[in-house]
Amino acid sequence: MRPLNQNFLKFNDVYCDLCGSNETLLWHSVYFLEKKFQYVLCLNCGLIYQNPSLDKESLFHIYDTIEYWNHKESGRKDSYMLNYFSYLSEKNQREAMNKIRLRWIRPLLQDKAQILDLGCSDGSLVEALCNEGFRAIGMDISSTIITQAKKESPLELIEADFENEWPIQRSFDAITCYASLSNFSRPSRVFQQIQHHLKPGGYFFFNFGDYTRLASKILGSRIYLLRPTCSHIYSEKVIQKYCEKFGLRVLELKTDFQVISLARALGFLRIPKILKALELLGAEKLNLRMTVPTGYRVCAIRETA
Ligand SMILES: [Zn+2]
Repeated sequence: MRPLNQNFLKFNDVYCDLCGSNETLLWHSVYFLEKKFQYVLCLNCGLIYQNPSLDKESLFHIYDTIEYWNHKESGRKDSYMLNYFSYLSEKNQREAMNKIRLRWIRPLLQDKAQILDLGCSDGSLVEALCNEGFRAIGMDISSTIITQAKKESPLELIEADFENEWPIQRSFDAITCYASLSNFSRPSRVFQQIQHHLKPGGYFFFNFGDYTRLASKILGSRIYLLRPTCSHIYSEKVIQKYCEKFGLRVLELKTDFQVISLARALGFLRIPKILKALELLGAEKLNLRMTVPTGYRVCAIRETA
């Protein structure tokens, strides 16, 4: 992993990914890494998106930096990357989360069902799915994390820019995608691939933050999603439109549940001073198990017709 270099970050003007309109209102602007990031609301469909938007090369750069995977190690003073505070050291939280997600997924699938985890990171969910008797593989955009993960595990993890062509031909009984949807720079391309790679009647399990929920409004626009790699912010209505457009029908949409470390929660809230105090107490890895009233977890089915 390399250190983040601000000079590598470049922006492009983009249209709404869902409806193609460019009629927008400025929704929020924020400084990350000493650069101004703007989020606009599409007046036609309600999607919020980063515009101008970080280009693909910039995203690749961020995904391979030490700041992204382990902010603490990077020694940076700013808190903007703290959402990913020591991500790789939060193994126990992620294992607890995998168990919960398996409870949502298990009842709908047969033994040996073929599952793809999109945005699989180090393959933690893929491993849990394989242990449950499924045939699971993972795909992630980060070459650093995939290379590292493959050194340590026999799992089938593929490095791919999955917004373009997928380097696999097979179809799946289910595709999972957690904590990733906001990071896609062209979500419609990913939805198109999901439609193509799901068997008819196959399931798409994912989660997303909804900016229109009451808790999101109370906590404020900056709370839960804004970070440099966040390119899209959704609402339930917007997600329904994406699903409809790409032949998916929402079967279940419920308030999300997460197991996260206290340190990460403070990262979301951008209060690093409290984090320092927690570290002194040795409490930064304390687990929080909580419903996430700003977001939803979803199960959608690929229509057979
Ligand atoms: Zn739109």
